[in-house]
Amino acid sequence: MFDLSPEHREIQATARALAAAVEPFADEADEYVEVHPKVRELLAESGLARHVVPAAYGGASETLDPLTLAVVREALMYSSAHLDSMFGMQGVGSYSLAVGGSDELKAQWLPKVAAVEAIAGLALTEPDVGSDLRAVTTTMVADGDELVVNGRKSFITNGGAADFYCTLVREGEGWSMVLVPGNAPGLSIERGADLIAPHILGELTFTDVRVPAGNRLGVPGKAFSLMLQTLAVFRVTVAASGVGLAQAALDEAKAHALAREQFGRPLIELGAVAQKLAQSWTDVEAARAFVYRAAALAKDDPLGHLDYSSMAKVHATEAAAAVVDRSVQTMGRFGLVRGSKIERLYRNARPLRVYEGATEVLLDSLARRLAKGAR
Ligand SMILES: Cc1cc2nc3c(=O)[nH]c(=O)nc-3n(C[C@H](O)[C@H](O)[C@H](O)COP(=O)(O)OP(=O)(O)OC[C@H]3O[C@@H](n4cnc5c(N)ncnc54)[C@H](O)[C@@H]3O)c2cc1C
Repeated sequence: MFDLSPEHREIQATARALAAAVEPFADEADEYVEVHPKVRELLAESGLARHVVPAAYGGASETLDPLTLAVVREALMYSSAHLDSMFGMQGVGSYSLAVGGSDELKAQWLPKVAAVEAIAGLALTEPDVGSDLRAVTTTMVADGDELVVNGRKSFITNGGAADFYCTLVREGEGWSMVLVPGNAPGLSIERGADLIAPHILGELTFTDVRVPAGNRLGVPGKAFSLMLQTLAVFRVTVAASGVGLAQAALDEAKAHALAREQFGRPLIELGAVAQKLAQSWTDVEAARAFVYRAAALAKDDPLGHLDYSSMAKVHATEAAAAVVDRSVQTMGRFGLVRGSKIERLYRNARPLRVYEGATEVLLDSLARRLAKGAR
């Protein structure tokens, strides 16, 4: 069994305490499509967002530790998807800045991200572009000491709430990234779609948005790698969210199966129910062990271990879907009640298999790697 270090255990305890503080109003928070003020306040107070920022800019460690992030997301998602998203996006939204931004730009924004005084966003997806990100159509051109952005971004987490968006654009024949402040003139933001699992989403339109040349992230025309580096660090943390959600669903089903009797016995003693619970426990433990291992591997060389992060994400998020579905079944009609915790978990499990690399897309790229001899 993979074991966590004492330092990781300490961070886990802090994350569990934060999750427990949010739990009493998690139903409400998970319905929010804007930042829940109390969740933001508690996240800031916990100091956990310091783990998504390098130490030189107010963060907790010299380089980000995917295992720390995984342990935190597992604990937060156990209680609330809104809380998990708020924490995760501070990192996902700011990592390309931390890797590709100028010292001045980093000093301007990253300490605020660590303190949750600024909210981060990452704008890749467009109305007609999803998994195939090389097809993005939003453009950027340099004009003197300014950069001019035009186009649209869609389904952007924290859209409308974020203080800045690290934005993927076409520039000439290549791909570039740029930091666009949320209040930049020419950037208009509409509320995004209402999802079955409510989420802060915005639709961004850039009309001749001008930002200083210093807002560029990475090398002109060669910034696609910044996006890949972000995924290499954070994909495995989405897998960890899947583990936290699966554990919560298992705990709900177990409590119900212990408390409810049918045919003169607790449900947990009825063969088919017992089998389901044991299978779910097995799935949760296997997913957790693999996620921790993949996250530990990602620490020193995230891109070099992207295959394992992808496998962990596929496995853990698909396992979460199976576990939550079995849990609903175990709870019979009580599993179908709107407003119940299990119903919320059932809805919250679904997006995990779509964003930050949909299952099929990840399997497709893993198969290509396998064909080329990776193993
Ligand atoms: C809650 C939520 C939050 C999000 N937040 C953000 C955000 O902050 N920033 C951002 O930029 N985007 C965000 N997105 C968008 C997300 O990244 C995309 O939904 C995702 O990339 C998939 O794109 P798509 O939905 O357009 O699906 P498509 O790319 O149209 O795919 C549809 C289906 O086809 C499959 N498919 C596609 N290509 C292949 C292939 N080559 N081989 C096999 N199967 C394939 C997919 O697996 C999927 O099942 C968010 C989405 C959600 C749901």
